[in-house]
Amino acid sequence: MPQTRHRIRTPRRAGAYIGLTVLALGITATASTGISSRSHSAAGPVATSAESALAPCRITGAMGVQMSEGLPTPPGYSRSTGEVRALNLMIDFPDAKGEGTALDRMAEFFPQTSDWFRTSSYGRLTYRAEAPIRTWLRMPMPFAAYGIGRGSAYEPGYRQLVEHIVKAADAEVDFSRYDLINVLVTPNAGPSALDTVLSVTFSGNAEAPMADGVPLANTSFVYSRQDDGSGTYRETGFRVLPHENGHVFGLPDLYTSDGGGSVGHWDIMSEDWGANNDLLGWHKWKLGWLDSSQISCASKSGVSDHTLTPLAVEGGTKLAFVPLSDTAGYAVEVRTQAGNDEAVCKPGVLIYKVDSQVDTGRGPVAVSDSAVGSGGCTRRPNVHGELSDAPFRPGETFTDEQNGISVSVVGELRNGSFQVRITRP
Ligand SMILES: [Zn+2]
Repeated sequence: MPQTRHRIRTPRRAGAYIGLTVLALGITATASTGISSRSHSAAGPVATSAESALAPCRITGAMGVQMSEGLPTPPGYSRSTGEVRALNLMIDFPDAKGEGTALDRMAEFFPQTSDWFRTSSYGRLTYRAEAPIRTWLRMPMPFAAYGIGRGSAYEPGYRQLVEHIVKAADAEVDFSRYDLINVLVTPNAGPSALDTVLSVTFSGNAEAPMADGVPLANTSFVYSRQDDGSGTYRETGFRVLPHENGHVFGLPDLYTSDGGGSVGHWDIMSEDWGANNDLLGWHKWKLGWLDSSQISCASKSGVSDHTLTPLAVEGGTKLAFVPLSDTAGYAVEVRTQAGNDEAVCKPGVLIYKVDSQVDTGRGPVAVSDSAVGSGGCTRRPNVHGELSDAPFRPGETFTDEQNGISVSVVGELRNGSFQVRITRP
């Protein structure tokens, strides 16, 4: 069965969130060791004996979870380090002919998306966006005939669409040369993203149609324009694509049917509307963008001290992790207004729980708010308010009384690093 991810978020300004149930077509990816694919090796770090001290912090995937926060990311997804080649195909329909040129549509996402990945990965992911076909690829059927709506499954509409794309492009495209595919749909097909977000990714899908000997296993579809009317579309409209490609690399959705209240604007898998934002440190470790030497594992009982450098700045220790079990723990990192994190209004130590037994779209990550009920510090549109001031400042302590864990922010150093003291039983 294919693994599917559906964007279920509606923008805040559209009002009430629609509580769509995530369609769980896939079975657990942890069982999918039999997937054979060319270069679709697993993303993220691989444990070695020298890294055994980190073993308790490598929470693993859980059976029955479609897309999990566990390490390592299972096979079948696109690799997330080194050179990643993205095939971009701009498609239109007989009843929704492309307005403007196909390359204009691509320019809504590039070079911003490539730059975003370079910045977030500290240069470890080189994203090569290619468009061997420079014109609109016309589909043989009207858009409506594919039956594509919000939350549509891969079968049968998307399978038919992908088959038609392959048929139209195969003479000019060698699909085996690419790690992932972006289908950039003409914006006039389907509803406005303000009404319904159709953009979706089907990832780790070994049963996708084949082309040039490979399954089109990791494919993102982007519809409409994520234009919130604030006048920032040119700066922020591209961000749907790094979100969708996050699924191609195996990352789950962090928003839930209730919206962005679990993680707020602290990860692009939570909120991809509005001002630019980065990924959580946990995700960067999962993607192989942080070395094991940059992770500080607080697995031993007692008190431990950790000095963390800001996540947006290259080098240094980025993440302290407090394992609670084989499948859950607390992550601790420093977030500042730098790099991709332009909307940070209260820099400090962000603390969040990661649970690999919670599936995509159900809240696998939950940020701890240092100022519950404050309303937050941001006034940016489409940035979750309440959690915007979630980071802990020097003198503040997070406690989990049930598990006997505390994380105290001891101080901030002149170089921007934060000192953190972790106590555990
Ligand atoms: Zn998503």
